[in-house]
Amino acid sequence: MKQLTNENAANRSSYVGSVYNVGERAVKNEVLSSLPPEWSRLHREGYIHIHDLDAYGKTYNCLTFNFLNAFPYKQFEGLRDSGKIVRLFGFIKTLFADMGNEQSGGMAFANFDNELATVLEKLGVRYNESNCDLIAEAIADLLLWCNNTHTRMGQTSYYVTLNIGLAENEFARFIAYSVIEQFEKLGDTVYKPNIVFKVCKGVSRLEGDRNFDLYRKALLCTAKKMIPTYLLCDCVSDREIAPDKLSVMGCRTRVVDDIYGKGGAIGRGNIDNISINLPRLALEIDRDHRGDTVSKKIDLLRKKWLSIADVTKEILLDRYNKILSLSIDDFPSNATRQLWCIAFEDIPEVFKHGTLSIGFIGLSETMEILCGKRFYNDAETYRIALDFVAFMREYCNKQRDKYKLNFSLLATSGELISGRFSEIDSKQFSPEADVFSKGFYTNSFHVNVDSGISAREKLIKEGPFHALSNGGCISYIELNEAPIGNDEGLRELVEEAVEAGVRYMGINFPKDICDDCGISGVFNECPACCGKKITRIRRVSGYLEILDGFTNGKKNEVKSRKSN
Ligand SMILES: [Zn+2]
Repeated sequence: MKQLTNENAANRSSYVGSVYNVGERAVKNEVLSSLPPEWSRLHREGYIHIHDLDAYGKTYNCLTFNFLNAFPYKQFEGLRDSGKIVRLFGFIKTLFADMGNEQSGGMAFANFDNELATVLEKLGVRYNESNCDLIAEAIADLLLWCNNTHTRMGQTSYYVTLNIGLAENEFARFIAYSVIEQFEKLGDTVYKPNIVFKVCKGVSRLEGDRNFDLYRKALLCTAKKMIPTYLLCDCVSDREIAPDKLSVMGCRTRVVDDIYGKGGAIGRGNIDNISINLPRLALEIDRDHRGDTVSKKIDLLRKKWLSIADVTKEILLDRYNKILSLSIDDFPSNATRQLWCIAFEDIPEVFKHGTLSIGFIGLSETMEILCGKRFYNDAETYRIALDFVAFMREYCNKQRDKYKLNFSLLATSGELISGRFSEIDSKQFSPEADVFSKGFYTNSFHVNVDSGISAREKLIKEGPFHALSNGGCISYIELNEAPIGNDEGLRELVEEAVEAGVRYMGINFPKDICDDCGISGVFNECPACCGKKITRIRRVSGYLEILDGFTNGKKNEVKSRKSN
């Protein structure tokens, strides 16, 4: 169960994993050497981070499955109900394995409950007690598969996200219910896949809505396991979009707008993304222009950001164009499975529906360095921060219009860069603001994890940034301990988030599990059996992980957290 520390905080201690590691390092260096020196320099020196560098020009990032598009009903002919159920879940596992090794990032179902129910009904599987028992067991088995199977890229797990909550009929409701029920029953050491519950007025959000019971059940599960997280379909920036077209991919990626008319997440994905190290730009301005006024410094920030963003955009385009030159034969599973929004026959026609994202990290540190204040504690600094994010978004819109591609602004999670950027910068700069001692930069536009401000205030402060971050974002509420049984308290937080304009939210709390007797809580020594072997599960960049598997930046973030 313990994981080894390495670049992606994933388990690679096997023969295949070790060979993959060597290959990955070689490919990354090869890619960097093949790019124009200025581009590689920006990545190596930590101005930017080109995500999934080993996949550069070889594949896209992630995909929300168009699952119903080409489902092979014929393969199920002649089977009894039980045989169809068993084969369906086997089919899904193979799908995850095939697709997970053909792309660099996550896979999602936008409406796992409705999509699965539709398939089962079309297969003629009856909604009765014995079939339901088998389906519940098959769902438990699928969740376990997602948690335990580490055969992706040689010993990492598959990034799977199941969006649920809009279930339209009893069969779909049973599937949503079983996903939550089985995930909860599998206990504390099962923390994958990512499950996202859609909160939507008239469907699940309010008492009397048909899936309000499922919503409450989801909240009770979150109170124990931090999963599900919540996609807020009624928030101001998403309420005009049909909720069944909204979907979260992995830790936060949002694919909705499409200039080619296939709006919504289904059958689309992110092609590539690059994050910009905002604090680096602020540190250079602080070093060279410390005496200048704040407005002069913000002016310089925009100029510097534009010069980096122009290169970033070129890299995104280069990577995109390289992928377009690949052939259908380079994507055998995509070609067979047909999970995109249009037929997977003409690569450029398919991938033009994907997104190209420019990400950012460390807005909080950037403002602290340039304005001397934390943006969430000062009205003027807050306005400057919001203006700056709006400026970055405007740039993405301009590139979208200029290149006729879906550029978006991504509020980047920590992953490995929060620590990497901070470490590189701390060796070169000595700002007056203390932004280095914690050992990582703050996630996207988040308020600092040690802000100590109330949950409500955090949501109100972060909400307006959600509307600007159309490539994906999340707000977290940090609690001291598991809010077990308090679904009403969590529901109030979700309501406040909806009001604040938050698109997607998660509840975090520390979770320690005794390896000897299995009880969970927050402790260094087990209060029940005095065991000292403890597994610590935390969420930092979207997925729950075991603390030992975290990179240093993530570990430091966990140490700094204060509850809201
Ligand atoms: Zn114990």
